Amino acid sequence: MSSISTLNADLHCHSVVSDGTLTPEELAERAYANGVRLWALTDHDELGGQARAKVAAKALGMDYLSGVEISVTWMGQTIHIVGLGIDAEHAVILEGLRHTREGRSNRAQMMADQLLKVGIPGAYEGALHFAGNHQLISRTHFARFLVEQGVCRDTEHVFKNYLIEGKPGYVPHQWAKLDDAVAWIKAAGGVAVIAHPGRYKFNAMQMDELFKHFKHIGGVAIEVITGSHSPDQYKTYGKIAQQYGFLASRGSDFHDPHESHIDLGALPHLPDHLTPVWSLFQ
Ligand code: AMP
Ligand code: MN
Ligand code: MN
Ligand code: MN
Repeated sequence: MSSISTLNADLHCHSVVSDGTLTPEELAERAYANGVRLWALTDHDELGGQARAKVAAKALGMDYLSGVEISVTWMGQTIHIVGLGIDAEHAVILEGLRHTREGRSNRAQMMADQLLKVGIPGAYEGALHFAGNHQLISRTHFARFLVEQGVCRDTEHVFKNYLIEGKPGYVPHQWAKLDDAVAWIKAAGGVAVIAHPGRYKFNAMQMDELFKHFKHIGGVAIEVITGSHSPDQYKTYGKIAQQYGFLASRGSDFHDPHESHIDLGALPHLPDHLTPVWSLFQ
């Protein structure tokens, strides 16, 4: 068989429903044109794009898994848990995500208050404009506003100088609990995946505890090949997947053609000694 590892699966990206700039249909077309044959849209804390993404994928003859990326607070830090193969209409996960989104508007107003204090007015309205009709307002929308205002050259520079801990516009936030997020995903019939583990600022002991605890509560996979990892991290997290007995996932984390340096479907394949998370769905 053309090995399952070399399937062009892209199981992590964002649409206008969260903080991406393309519609679910535009993403489906772009993914397919780039060679993706198994796709998942994983908007932050939102399932509002799932029906459209699935219809668009099917129309192109591309396999689809319903997905989500849930914001979680664990040991005082924000981590992201991807859910794949979920029932996007399941009441348990819909309610959990609704609750997770609730604090965003208030947080955004506090972020804008801080930005005003460093001489940047109108950030709440500005970010809301970038968020469009969708209820989900995120730091990415603020970042785009700051670029538009000429405060920073690009969103990368925004996230170095604003909106992160210790910088103006950072507001600590309590997201979902890890155990709850995994439970919602399981209740909706999906599998839970730790997104971009290389991005977290935990020490080795905390990472060990995260992996063990995640496994204990029924988490099954980690992202190994992601737009957030360096080639060295592909190796590191490949080894970790084997060591802890996790399946491996692959996803670009694509948000926008100009902002994202890795396009849909453009990452290296999963190494063939790892078991892909999509083996569960074939
Ligand atoms: P929020 O969920 O509102 O905290 O926003 C988080 C989003 O901000 C992430 O999903 C990324 O899209 C974006 N983001 C966070 N850190 C960075 C960074 N260093 N560079 C670019 N985008 C970032
Ligand atoms: Mn994002
Ligand atoms: Mn993420
Ligand atoms: Mn993401």
